[in-house]
Formats: sequence, C-alpha cells, structure tokens
Amino acid sequence: MNKIILTLAGAVALAASCQTQEDTALQAKVDEYATFEVKSALIDGLSDKDRQVLNLLREAGKVIDGMFWKQTFGDKEEMDVIDRQAMKDFAMINYGPWDRLEDNAPFVPGYGEKPLGANYYPADMTAEEWEAFDDPDKLSPYTVIRRDENGALKCVWYRDEYREDLDLVCRYLTEAAAITENEGLKNYLTKRVEAFLTDDYFESDLAWMDMKDSQIDVVIGPIESYDDKLNELKTSYECFILLKDEKRSQELAKYVSMLPELQKMLPCPEEYKTFVPGTSSDLNVYDAIYYSGDCNCGSKTIAINLPNDDRVQALKGARRLQLHNSMDAKFGKILLPIGRLLIEPDQQKHLRSEAFFWNVTFHEVAHGLGVKETVNGKGSVDEAMGAEKTTWEEAKADILGLFMVCRLIDMEEIPLISKEDAITTFIAGLVRSVRFGSASSHGKANMMCYNFMKENGAFSRNSDGQYHIDYDKALEAIDAWAGLIIKTQATGDIDFARSFSEKYAVVPEALSADIANVNAHNIPRDIKFDFVW
Ligand SMILES: [Zn+2]
Repeated sequence: MNKIILTLAGAVALAASCQTQEDTALQAKVDEYATFEVKSALIDGLSDKDRQVLNLLREAGKVIDGMFWKQTFGDKEEMDVIDRQAMKDFAMINYGPWDRLEDNAPFVPGYGEKPLGANYYPADMTAEEWEAFDDPDKLSPYTVIRRDENGALKCVWYRDEYREDLDLVCRYLTEAAAITENEGLKNYLTKRVEAFLTDDYFESDLAWMDMKDSQIDVVIGPIESYDDKLNELKTSYECFILLKDEKRSQELAKYVSMLPELQKMLPCPEEYKTFVPGTSSDLNVYDAIYYSGDCNCGSKTIAINLPNDDRVQALKGARRLQLHNSMDAKFGKILLPIGRLLIEPDQQKHLRSEAFFWNVTFHEVAHGLGVKETVNGKGSVDEAMGAEKTTWEEAKADILGLFMVCRLIDMEEIPLISKEDAITTFIAGLVRSVRFGSASSHGKANMMCYNFMKENGAFSRNSDGQYHIDYDKALEAIDAWAGLIIKTQATGDIDFARSFSEKYAVVPEALSADIANVNAHNIPRDIKFDFVW
C-alpha cells in the first residue's frame, strides 16, 4: 500500500515538474512576441470630438475581437478558464489553442489539430459533402456553413450568425458617425452600418475610397479569408484604427502619379507591360493605434491594401495603408537584431529602418503593377495561376518593390537611403520571414526569392558564416527574378510555377542553422500590442 502511495506521489511530482517545464517553454513562446506600446504623437493633435470618435471605434473594435474568436475557434470562455498563466497568455495571442507561427500546432491539452475550416464550417464536414452541397450562397465570403436539424448543410449569413454582436458594433459606429465632423468619415461609417446588416459591403467600400481627408481611418469588417484554410473563402472580422500621417502621405502621393512610368521600366519584354496602372489609388502613411480580431492574431500586419472587391477597385482604385509605427517596431525589435547577428559587420550599417519602410511600402505599390491578363488567352493571371496564384503574386510584389526602390534611388526620387541600404535590409527581411514557416504563400514566395538570389550570387557566406552581399550581383538577380515572375504570370504557366516552387520553396540547411542561431539569441519573432492611449 505504502509503495503504491509512494509511486503515486512520485508520478504526481513528475507530472508537476513536466508541467513546470512545459510552462517555461510556453512562456518563452509568449516572449517571442515583443511587446510594443502603441501610442502616437498624432493623437495629441486631435480635437475632443475626434477623441470621442476614437473611443467609440475602439469599443466597436473590442466587439469585433470577440466575433473573430467565434469564427476562428468558437467559445473564448474555454481559453479564459485556463489556469496556467503562460498557456492562457499564449492562447490569447493565438486566439485559440493552436500556435499560429508553428503551423497551428496545438498547445493546450485536450485540443487536437485545428480544423482547416476553423469555425466557418462544421468540423466534421467531408469534402464530398461540401462538393455535393447545392446552394449558391455557400461560396459567399459572408456565410458560415452550419447543419440544420436534420444534419444537412445550410448557409447562414454573417448578419444572422453574429446578429447580437453586430447590433452592438453598429450602435458604436452610428454614434461615432453622429459625432464626427468629417463628412467622408460620417458617410463611410453610416454605409458600413448598412453593410453589416445586409452583408453587402459594396457601397461602404466605395464610401471608404471616397473618404480622402479624414485623419481618422478605420478598417472594420469581415475582410481577409486567410483564416479559412479549407477554401480561402470565408472572411474574418478585424478592426484597425488608424491616424493618417499627412506629411508623409503627401510625400508618397508623387509615387502614385509615377506608376505608369514605373510600369514601363519593369525588367521584362514590352508585351508584358501593356497594363496601365491606375493613378487614382491612395498611398498613405498611418500610425496604427488599435488592432483587433484577425489582424491582431499571430503575426501582425504592417501594411494594408484594400478594398478586396475588384468592382470597387475598378471604379475607385485601391488604398494602400502603410502602418509606420508598427513597421518601426518590427524593424527595431526583430529585423535589426537579426541583421546584426547574421550580416557581416561592415555591411550592418546598411540595416536601416527607413529602408524597411520603403521596401514594405513599395511591396504594396508593386501589387498594382505588372500583368493582370495573360498574354496567351488563358484569361486573368489569377484564374490561370490557380493554386500558385498567391505565392507568385506575393513573390512579384516583394521583388518588384525592391526593384522600384532601387530605380527611384537612382532617379534621386527617394532620399536618405542608398541601394545598399534597401538590398541589405531586404535580405535580412527574407531571413526574418522564414521564421514564420515556409508553408504559407508568403513563406513560399520568400524562400523562392532567397534561393534564387543565392543561386545568382547576390549573397554568400564569409569565413565566419555571416552573409556577405555582392550588391552588383544582387541588382542583376533582382532584375532576373522579377523578369521570371512576370513571364510566368503573363503566360499563366502554372506547370512551371508549380515545379519551380517545389524546387525553390524549400529551406536550405544553412538557413535552418541561421534560424536556429537567431532563436538561440531569443530575438522576438513578432510583436504584440499594448494599447496605452
Ligand atoms: Zn502582398
């Protein structure tokens, strides 16, 4: 008997020590997100009414946060009751029990793999069932799929599924619309309320594009579909509250007017340059003062390009929002320490926050350049590229962004930084992004770029194993890689795209060692926000 009790006590002690070890490991994961105190000097310049508007928007944003929990996981309460602090903190960062930076590996006991369709579909829905489900609304970005009382699939509109939450969001937005003195913002908020209640966002997206002179901006609604890993169809609720940096935005306006000229400079045959980019798009710089929902989970967005609705884009162009304070936070807390660890000392002076800003900004601009229709009758590039679509579009934006920054520096249109700054900061950025895994479209795009540039001599290792960049070869590699991507998109060559990404979207051993080195130095992987305003 005594023996049994002793063994039992031993087992309990062992379990406790395992748990302690596990908690330490989880705390380390929490700490991989550097805390960024979100504030902005721009708030100081706001009127009392504007501050009231901000407070109401934030209240709406909090509700949005709860809605995203429902979409991506279900009942947040299940995570709220976790009594192990590190585990709970990590669940809050990930909006559920799955580690978003580790391909959604579960970390809370009792939870298995994350369903591909999150909570947008019944977890037990089979592919055959989905295929056979005959309802045109099933493809809407604004319906969830549920089961009726007989267990058959049915569509439920977001406006019904999230009714109570939406009523609250609409109340806050209506109140904010009544207070703001900016007509554009008032109109947008009013139309957005209608959109929430009808699941028709078209008019409110137009109103958002028409809103040009409001310092306060808010992106709020079901927007991106990345969280639906089953079909990339269902949109996730999110909210960004932003303050426009008028001075920097005005500086950027000139680049928008240069887009047609930039399109003509692309490193590819003339026949791929016939698309004429619109110049009505906005390119603005903001400080982000609040994130919630989809944009606040796992890895944080530092640039936005909206709206997603092609019909709105055709009529009004798009708005590209550069979130400057979040960029600076990522640069300072992550990119700079990585660069200082991996790049040879002589070249470290080229790691510049300003260069990071330009590279990210022109990534967004680059989405608006290149080829939209295939040149050989395969329809739009998006249609022709199928499952390779996003990977290649992101790869294009990355390299054309860098290409343009370098050209504009040559033309003395971008001040204060050199091509060496842009390239060095870009390469450190490639290494940074690999830490998010190479499975996502962005991850694959980054690996293809890394391996292509390496193969073309853009960088090599010095005797200490650190990166030495050959800037002349890097410039050639940029042109070559950009040219290859444009050609692949222009010809809609999905077979080439697939075989290339199979070969190049892999993490070479030396790079894995770099990442291990970075991890061993406890350099954060991302940021999390502390909203102190
Ligand atoms: Zn992009």
